[in-house]
Amino acid sequence: MATIAFGASALKVQTGLWRSMRPVIDAKKCVSCLRCWLQCPDDSIELDADNKVTGINLFFCKGCALCERLCPTKAITMHSESSFADGDAVSGEHPGEVGAHVK
Ligand code: SF4
Ligand code: SF4
Repeated sequence: MATIAFGASALKVQTGLWRSMRPVIDAKKCVSCLRCWLQCPDDSIELDADNKVTGINLFFCKGCALCERLCPTKAITMHSESSFADGDAVSGEHPGEVGAHVK
């Protein structure tokens, strides 16, 4: 059962630290259906003002792969965290760098 530790804790707890698999979006395959954005349980899909997917907020993405399963064009693929040069789940990353995870 989930626990709310303190007020507004959802914004402070980096659930991305739990992740072992990381989603990567291929922008060329994305048709902006927004299924991933609508269904992501961690509200981690980032959009621009034109509702184009710009990246994934790795502070909160837990790597559940729901977005990969839902994407109709297979624009999202999951990759082991160990295959990224930045090592562990969120080291050196902040929400402003989410675009780095769109090919
Ligand atoms: S892997 Fe899960 S938590 Fe991460 S962006 Fe996709 S749906 Fe959201
Ligand atoms: S589900 Fe796939 S095609 Fe739809 S917005 Fe997300 S990445 Fe793009």
